[in-house]
Amino acid sequence: MKLLLRFPRPGHKTPRTAEVILETGAKINIDKANVDAVSGELIVDVPSDKVDSVAEHFREKGVEVRKLMKLIAWDEERCIHCGACISICPTGVFKFDPSWQIELDEEKCIRCEVCVNVCPFRALACVD
Ligand code: SF4
Ligand code: SF4
Repeated sequence: MKLLLRFPRPGHKTPRTAEVILETGAKINIDKANVDAVSGELIVDVPSDKVDSVAEHFREKGVEVRKLMKLIAWDEERCIHCGACISICPTGVFKFDPSWQIELDEEKCIRCEVCVNVCPFRALACVD
């Protein structure tokens, strides 16, 4: 499962992510990182049996944690199945089914938002 982590102070001296990995023994994969002067945001992939423990340890360290059940919203009514999102997505979320209709594998999404700007019919949006 993917977790969205919001760090209030990215310049914090303690390596909180490394600490949580050591404390929980979870193999955490960082899918996306955004850090600026006032905040930091990570999307991490966590084995499902460790999700609750990892979330609790991050919260104890002052990190805001959200479970991401869905990363990308697809408005099927707007989609014309042009395929533009297939070639642009870096993780292969989109593909054509045998009848040339778009289908999504949302688990692969890393919330990069590239497809949101590419879709000519605004059929895609990142879920907050
Ligand atoms: S780019 Fe937009 S309209 Fe084209 S297939 Fe993807 S979601 Fe549908
Ligand atoms: S947000 Fe990025 S990873 Fe997710 S579906 Fe769009 S292009 Fe692919």
